Amino acid sequence: MLYLLDASAIINNPYFSFSKKDKYACTLEVLHELKSFEVKALAENALKMKILRVYRPKHKYIKDAEKMAKRHGFERLSKADLSVIALALQFKNEGKQFLVVTDDYSIQNFLLTESVEYLAPVQGKIKESISFERFCPVCKKKFFEKQRNNECPDCGIRLSSRRVKLSEHN
Ligand SMILES: [Zn+2]
Repeated sequence: MLYLLDASAIINNPYFSFSKKDKYACTLEVLHELKSFEVKALAENALKMKILRVYRPKHKYIKDAEKMAKRHGFERLSKADLSVIALALQFKNEGKQFLVVTDDYSIQNFLLTESVEYLAPVQGKIKESISFERFCPVCKKKFFEKQRNNECPDCGIRLSSRRVKLSEHN
């Protein structure tokens, strides 16, 4: 399997290791987020063994990721987050079989909206494709990101939340 790694997949997971049977992909931005010695050494070793490859997502997919982030209200995505999403969009478009590995809730929500499959390693298993969605009971606007005081920025009403099933995963 080809795994697309987000920085959180490695940093937050003390049990993370690269398997020689698999292939791994990440972006330069993700690589730069690996700051601790142990994690850096892991990644450098995997690069040397050629099981990890660093990709630079095509410009078109970075633009697409930015546009979609704006549309879905995912404003807190970092440059590294967006690079992972862009590469996921590119891989999907190229028909590659892959799984994104991320513990970042914003990235997961984004991937769900694009029907890109992922693993959340801290849970140790494929996360169910169920997500919480905040919405304003008055204007019905949906929010994936946390809002100030948990209120609708337009109506000032306390947001409600509900479980939403966005896609299936076997
Ligand atoms: Zn509202």
